[in-house]
Amino acid sequence: MGELDVRGAAEALPVTEGSGQAWLQRHTSSVMGTYGVPQRVLVRGEGCYVWDADGRRYLDLLAGIATNAVGHAHPLLVAAVTAQLTTLGHVSNFFATAPQIALAEQLLAVSRAPAGSRVFFCNSGAEANEAAFKMARRTGRPKVVAAVDGFHGRTMGALALTHKPQYRAPFEPLPGGVEHVPFGDVGALGRAVDGATAAVFLEPVQGEGGVRPAPPGYLEAARRITREHGALLVLDEVQSGIGRTGAWFAHQLPGHGDVVPDVVTTAKGLGGGIPIGATVAFGEHNAALLGAGQHGTTFGGNPVASAAALATLHAIERDDVLANVRAVGARLRDGITGLGHPLVVGVRGEGLLLGIELTAPVGPAVVAAALEQGFIVNAVRPDTIRLAPPLVLTPAQADSFVRALPGVLDAATTPGDPT
Ligand code: PLP
Repeated sequence: MGELDVRGAAEALPVTEGSGQAWLQRHTSSVMGTYGVPQRVLVRGEGCYVWDADGRRYLDLLAGIATNAVGHAHPLLVAAVTAQLTTLGHVSNFFATAPQIALAEQLLAVSRAPAGSRVFFCNSGAEANEAAFKMARRTGRPKVVAAVDGFHGRTMGALALTHKPQYRAPFEPLPGGVEHVPFGDVGALGRAVDGATAAVFLEPVQGEGGVRPAPPGYLEAARRITREHGALLVLDEVQSGIGRTGAWFAHQLPGHGDVVPDVVTTAKGLGGGIPIGATVAFGEHNAALLGAGQHGTTFGGNPVASAAALATLHAIERDDVLANVRAVGARLRDGITGLGHPLVVGVRGEGLLLGIELTAPVGPAVVAAALEQGFIVNAVRPDTIRLAPPLVLTPAQADSFVRALPGVLDAATTPGDPT
């Protein structure tokens, strides 16, 4: 393929004209207010940096919430998506395509799924969990167990699995039969699961719940308990999967005893920024829970999205990105801890999914101060700053944040500071 000619696109894509303020005003009167007021209007990204409409550059330590796995505008991703879109952009699921099939095979390989395993493709994390929830219902058992502070998405089924009362209350009644038990408490899980339990849904690292890894042995115990009662163990790796923690999936990290789940759900980093989700059913029996006609979605496994995911997996493998995640993650953690800043209690998490625990609920002010100083981070809780950068973050980029952090924290807590 020759050099891509994008000149004609400017007519349809007015992405660079207008100040941030002008765009924000248009946003307010055209986009539904579900996310509140956006912090900035972004127009461009390259690697681990993004630029806003006013030309300011930011080190992106959030990556579209743990999503731009190989950074912005990765050449391989751009080439793969462009090549696929110019070849075959979309077909219905009445037809199969090579990228979809190849992606299913690769996902089964990296998830170490046994023979007979199968993948269902969808478009988001919530949808991946909806499919898993439907698999659970197909067991014929009425109960599902999930964790306190667990997050599984905002569609009605996923919301029923999600714990946060503020998210749930306005939309009740939700699909029933879901009980939430304290995360990490083996005894509580053992008491909740019985012969009427269809499935247990757990995140190996609770992301939205504050970046809390499952304690060592917890997933293993969950496997033992679910197996004892014939219930499915569903691991939600929407945020923690696809290399985010330094392993392909967080449940493969040491400390989880080679646990083999029944279902793994993933999305976010899988497409490197192009929407795609997947539900991986482990083993023939689980894969048969959703038969012909029992689930579906128009875009699931769309060839362009599949090509994006293949490029993302390939780049991670080719460039040994998992090793980078482990090394740069440890460097960030040690650097931040080593600052000894009075506002920092410590750093939780795995790989490049980290939570900086603060002594006070000043997270939103820290986010604003960081933005002023050219860093995008997120207050996943008022007392926790989440870092989920592209997995290709360099040591120098990590160091630049560590050097800036004391100034950011001081600015956030200085009375009367305009940030
Ligand atoms: N599951 C987990 C663990 C998540 O972190 C998220 C999103 O943050 C979801 C599910 C929902 O994914 P999506 O926003 O793509 O629907």
